[in-house]
Amino acid sequence: MHAAQRDVQFGVAGTSPGTVPASAAPGSGTPSGRRDRMGTELVASLVVAMSSRALFDLDEANAVYETDGLEAYRAHQREREHVPLAPGTGFALVRALLAINERAGERLVEVLVLSRNDADTGVRVMNSAEHHGLDLPRYAFTAGRPAWPYLASFDANLFLSADPDDVTAAAAAGFAAARLLDVPTTASDDAEGEVRIAFDGDAVLFDASSEAIYQQHGLEAFIANEERHATDALQPGPLKPFLDALLAVNAHFPEDEAPIRLSLVTARNAAAHRRVITTLRAWGVLLHETFFLGGASKARVLEQLRPQIFFDDQTRHLLPASATTPAGHVPGFPSVPDVSAGPEV
Ligand SMILES: [Mg+2]
Repeated sequence: MHAAQRDVQFGVAGTSPGTVPASAAPGSGTPSGRRDRMGTELVASLVVAMSSRALFDLDEANAVYETDGLEAYRAHQREREHVPLAPGTGFALVRALLAINERAGERLVEVLVLSRNDADTGVRVMNSAEHHGLDLPRYAFTAGRPAWPYLASFDANLFLSADPDDVTAAAAAGFAAARLLDVPTTASDDAEGEVRIAFDGDAVLFDASSEAIYQQHGLEAFIANEERHATDALQPGPLKPFLDALLAVNAHFPEDEAPIRLSLVTARNAAAHRRVITTLRAWGVLLHETFFLGGASKARVLEQLRPQIFFDDQTRHLLPASATTPAGHVPGFPSVPDVSAGPEV
């Protein structure tokens, strides 16, 4: 059953006027009806595309490329073809997402590697995926050219990469995209068999209009604006289509067995909470955990929440969190700079 056919409930998208039609944004299309080359219908509700450096730790190999060039990099990867790569920042998310397929007995989630490697150097990545038991049926290697334009070819709902230029270009083209920060020094265990995804609010799930007021006119003006517009829903932000795809996966399960736990971790304080509730109600979305932090540390909340990924548009929140939490930076807009210092919203 498609999420849009369901009533409002935990983690399920509704049909309220604020809901953006799935066809309104790239990467949010419903892939049902497609068939793979064996003629099997593809039923994935969620397609996540990621670069090989997002999935695996390729820092050592990348250093060879940057120091000694492409030929040295090729030789390095060939010599180590059977040496498995260590998990990268996106690895925990991929493993947790793919476990949903085992639980469901069908491929609800698809993870695709979109890589600037060529297929020859990509062999080590494919061998590593096999070594780690990841079921990755599709790879795209573009041999140095940007890979993100192929997001549309695969109906991808999210693009994760370590390359800031690729992520910025993909986001500018309207795709949900984030740049992954370094691998956390402390790895979380996934013994609970649950996917946990945490989002910032403004300029991530929601549009950047209120964030722009905060940055241009300060906290007082921001709060006044949010109180004035408490009953006006915010517009969808860059990662809203990805949220919709996650909700579509959850809709395959009974409400109390939803495999993906969705959390909002916003620096908004209590005075600015009403508009968030208005927006989520308009979308027909009930999140699991919600934190209105009002200046308290996001990193310390995330340490307890232990999401496999946290998305934010501000590096001042992401950097402290990234030591313990896999973190993805959602590019902002020119009108809403990523400020490295200053008071919290
Ligand atoms: Mg934000």
